[in-house]
Amino acid sequence: MAYGTGLAQRGRPWSGGAAPCQVATRPISGRKGGGFQPAPGPGETARSFPGRDLPKQAGITLRERKKRMPDPTKWHELKKPIDGGRATYQKKSWNPMKHTWGPYTKKGPAPVWFSEANATNWTESMICKTKDLFYESKMNECFDKNEEVAIKIHYGEYNRTAILRPEFIAAIVEEVKACGGHPYVVNDTTLSYHTFNNMAISQYQMEGAIRHGYNAATFKCPVLIADGYSGEDDYRVELPEGLILKETYIGRAIAEADSMIVLGHARGHSITMYGGVLKQLGIGCQSKRGKYITHMAHWGDPHDAIGWPKFTDNCPGKSCKFHEMCDNSCPRNAHKVTANGKEWYPERCRLCYSCQVTCIFSGMTGITFEENYFPNAMIAHADAALGAMKCFEKGKVGFMNFAIDVVPECDCFPWAGMSLCPDVGIFASKDLIACEMATLDAIDAAPISPGSVADEKGLKPGDDKFREVNGFSPRITMAAGAKIGLGTQEYKQINYEPVLTPENAAKWQVRPGGVPTTVRLREVFKHHDLATEVMPFQRTEYDKDWVWNEWKKYDPFKGETPG
Ligand code: SF4
Ligand code: SF4
Repeated sequence: MAYGTGLAQRGRPWSGGAAPCQVATRPISGRKGGGFQPAPGPGETARSFPGRDLPKQAGITLRERKKRMPDPTKWHELKKPIDGGRATYQKKSWNPMKHTWGPYTKKGPAPVWFSEANATNWTESMICKTKDLFYESKMNECFDKNEEVAIKIHYGEYNRTAILRPEFIAAIVEEVKACGGHPYVVNDTTLSYHTFNNMAISQYQMEGAIRHGYNAATFKCPVLIADGYSGEDDYRVELPEGLILKETYIGRAIAEADSMIVLGHARGHSITMYGGVLKQLGIGCQSKRGKYITHMAHWGDPHDAIGWPKFTDNCPGKSCKFHEMCDNSCPRNAHKVTANGKEWYPERCRLCYSCQVTCIFSGMTGITFEENYFPNAMIAHADAALGAMKCFEKGKVGFMNFAIDVVPECDCFPWAGMSLCPDVGIFASKDLIACEMATLDAIDAAPISPGSVADEKGLKPGDDKFREVNGFSPRITMAAGAKIGLGTQEYKQINYEPVLTPENAAKWQVRPGGVPTTVRLREVFKHHDLATEVMPFQRTEYDKDWVWNEWKKYDPFKGETPG
């Protein structure tokens, strides 16, 4: 099975296609090289991942080598405890859990409001419909007057083009303000993900956000990073209900908010297969260490985690043209390229994806993921989403999915593939899982966009698009979310299209309910009307028939109007 086929190197597997892990252990006698070259510290052990030519060099067969090599995902050779640990972080972290958090599932199907991505007049603008759905779904009741309202969005990677357009976010900010709330737009830092990721450091992430138009000038409210300069400002949340995780960490500016409106760009994802509002909570609201624990898809002894980088014997070492980029990809100097392969220092590794993703983005298969990792990560991020929800009283969080630019990959990719289907529309609900299910069903029912990866794979309307494109069905996540009380998979879709009336046309204009632009211009023209000042124009001879007959010659259709 191939995963992540929405990548540039389509068909390149995230896992599964690579050869089994080939590991040798050998001590390193001293620091080699300088700069970014890592060397083991006291008590650390390097593990080598030589390339395909090692069996010949080492003079042993592949089978013998496999027998001797330990599983690289085990840390059983650690000589000393890892720095930090529960003893310190549990003392220092406040637990913001609210006593009146969920479960969020009521009996029966949950209502989800939907407006299609089409418009033929003022009232049907997608921005106007965003505002309408805010009120139709009673999102205005998620907060009281003077409360601090976090507007959670994804700021998008530098050079990313398929992002949620800033107008949608500004529209919600305007209505939160109009209802007496104090909005601020917020996102957390990410892990390093790959060599050129910009979202791991708040300053870099904000530079990208500003370039996307996500700034205070556009939104007319503060635009924050929730977990501090490099992701160290967070709170711990206990998750005894979690299916995999038993705790997580939420960015402080989110945990401290009174309520939250979550705006999701519905599109694919290479790890969780799909990303909408649940992913905004399960990864987007997690601080750096919340993301580490969620990506590891494990809680407990990290030796047993499934998410460690999987080194294969496909790395050719220094003859790989990306080897310098690869060496620079680790923020902890936990791996280095050798002449014929790689060495890894598991004591330093904190599972950030940077080495795997750099290798995969480069079209190589030297580092990848365990095949069964993905469903674990999908379920873990549902657990982590519960962690974010537990920071709010029940009923204080609302969700909107924008199925627009439904591309195969996440907004944290520094590019965007072609949309899998035409734009679908906007979904709004106070039930997280119902909102996601309605969005997924509508995306699956939509036609296939020509030229997209869905088209290349021969998909038909009705196929589970994200399963076929990315590897597993996102319904796994939704079932996990429903099981831990995040919402219901049953939904009742309420289609909403505004009626064209003079009142509705005037409702969401730049001066809502005020004087129309044309009436205001009457006043302006009274003082200074340039058009009348240049009149009367000099009259010249003008043959209308000649113009029509002459210019018809240049029309490929010779002036015929479409049938
Ligand atoms: S070795 Fe570990 S810490 Fe370093 S880039 Fe790879 S996953 Fe991240
Ligand atoms: S990018 Fe992949 S193949 Fe190239 S040196 Fe790094 S691990 Fe090896």
